[in-house]
Amino acid sequence: LMRKILVSGCLYGDHVRYDDGDVPCLDERFLKWKEEGRLIKVCPEVFGGLSIPRPDSQRVGDKVMACTGADVTREYTIGAEETLRLAKEYEVAFAIMKEDSPSCGSRFIYDGTFTDTKTKGLGLAVEYLKKAGYPVFDEEELDQAEQLLKQIEE
Ligand code: SF4
Repeated sequence: LMRKILVSGCLYGDHVRYDDGDVPCLDERFLKWKEEGRLIKVCPEVFGGLSIPRPDSQRVGDKVMACTGADVTREYTIGAEETLRLAKEYEVAFAIMKEDSPSCGSRFIYDGTFTDTKTKGLGLAVEYLKKAGYPVFDEEELDQAEQLLKQIEE
């Protein structure tokens, strides 16, 4: 059985980012997994009902705030829940999520001051995935992802 992998939609190549952009992952392993039909794409922020484009947002304490001052915690929470639901539905082996995002970051996020400063932390959807026990890698960690997949499928 070929295990599925959860991935950020913007890495998959969908224009779902806050600035209407994408950041397609062109690593040949990622492209191979895409070709094999393994990739389950998610965009927690779109799942949460936020528009494309949308205001830049950051985690601020227990909340997620837009640069406009709007509290978008509810939207981010709905998106994180839906992301976790899909991980379970497709029994994904792990996730590959876009670094630095308030939803998808797995090592770094912006620090909530809107001064372009990064700090160690998790995006909200990644926090949900990790709490549920799913390994999460970012787009720079495909070596580890490949290794884990080999281990799982051997
Ligand atoms: Fe990409 Fe995640 Fe941001 Fe959606 S929420 S645009 S998938 S980083």
